[in-house]
Amino acid sequence: MLKINSNYKQLKDSYLFYETAHRLADYQKEHPDKNVIKMGIGDVTRPLCPAVVDALKKASEEMGVAETFRGYGPEQGYDFLREKVRDYYAEREVELELSEIFISDGAKSDCGNILDIFSKDNLVLVPDPVYPVYVDTNVMAGRRIIYMDANESNDFLPGPGEFEPGTSAEDAAEGPDLIYICSPNNPTGAAYDREQLKEWVDYANEKGAVILFDAAYESFAEGDDIPRSIFEIPGARTCAIELCSLSKTAGFTGTRCGYTVVPHDLVRDDTELNALWLRRQTTKFNGVSYVVQRGAEAVFTPEGRMQIKENIDYYKENARVIMDALEDLGIWYTGGVHSPYIWFKCPEGMDSWTFFDFLLKEAGVVGTPGQGFGNNGEGFFRLTAFSTRENTEEAMERLKKVLAK
Ligand code: PLP
Repeated sequence: MLKINSNYKQLKDSYLFYETAHRLADYQKEHPDKNVIKMGIGDVTRPLCPAVVDALKKASEEMGVAETFRGYGPEQGYDFLREKVRDYYAEREVELELSEIFISDGAKSDCGNILDIFSKDNLVLVPDPVYPVYVDTNVMAGRRIIYMDANESNDFLPGPGEFEPGTSAEDAAEGPDLIYICSPNNPTGAAYDREQLKEWVDYANEKGAVILFDAAYESFAEGDDIPRSIFEIPGARTCAIELCSLSKTAGFTGTRCGYTVVPHDLVRDDTELNALWLRRQTTKFNGVSYVVQRGAEAVFTPEGRMQIKENIDYYKENARVIMDALEDLGIWYTGGVHSPYIWFKCPEGMDSWTFFDFLLKEAGVVGTPGQGFGNNGEGFFRLTAFSTRENTEEAMERLKKVLAK
């Protein structure tokens, strides 16, 4: 008899977004005239920049002409795009070979797909709170997960050895095989500095673990002290894989393009992980469309770089508006500086869902309860900078008004 993958039965319902949508719908039914401002969205709102749109149009035209039509492309991505990615890394003195860069249809897919090359017996370490994809993709495969203890006292940036209470002494001593690090982080917006990331790199090399570094928000990082890539850290080539995305960098959430870097120096079990990943991709993936890769290429041109920066600056200014309001109110927060996410402590000791209801009913503002990202999120709340400036300012005025009461 056919058996399903029963690991799927172990998945928790994706309750968070369902429940927030449900509570919002109930509220709007009762108050149809209220203008509710949505500050929970994790999707961008600014359109693709003109340089990308032009490139997409041009590539579409090429596809309609026999001489320039392209069929199947290289599974690993076209050289024209991989060269641009390589040059982008080289600006930060990270030297990559083209064969170390794999073009993807986004970081989420590769986050799940990369697990194909690892045994189910590996122990996985994820932060709590966490981007739920890291947990669910490993639950689907039946891997055991332990948690890093991210909290207010470590500014939601746990270091090696900071396991959540309840982690067995054996697991803590043995250490994980796969380590997820997302910096700048979703949901907390916190970003590791060089020294902190170096500790993780040293730990992974010592344990023979592999870091899966999610750099989806790298373009929001500011200043020299916050690495945009784990490969800026000495030693990372022997212990890390980097997953990156143009979703938040260039508004590609609906267009779909990203890249994954697997260095040749990353060897486990006498095997180059780059070779395994190449084998996996050439077997199960037929590449990102030519048109989209041309659009992605335009992101890296001087014109594209200037245009996407305008959008990122716009979101960052929204983040500034949120941070200013929280500072005025004397509320503890992290994120915002290197990230479109601001993560703050619910006022007056409220739990995440009580504050969600309070904010919706009293201020007509929707955010995301931290508890939905893990136990350590309880008592915290996430707002995003992806709204319009006008809505962000209005939401913060409302927040100040209801909390000043
Ligand atoms: N990684 C993190 C931490 C994210 O927050 C997101 C999207 O919200 C992704 C990956 C997914 O990115 P993509 O749109 O490239 O699949």
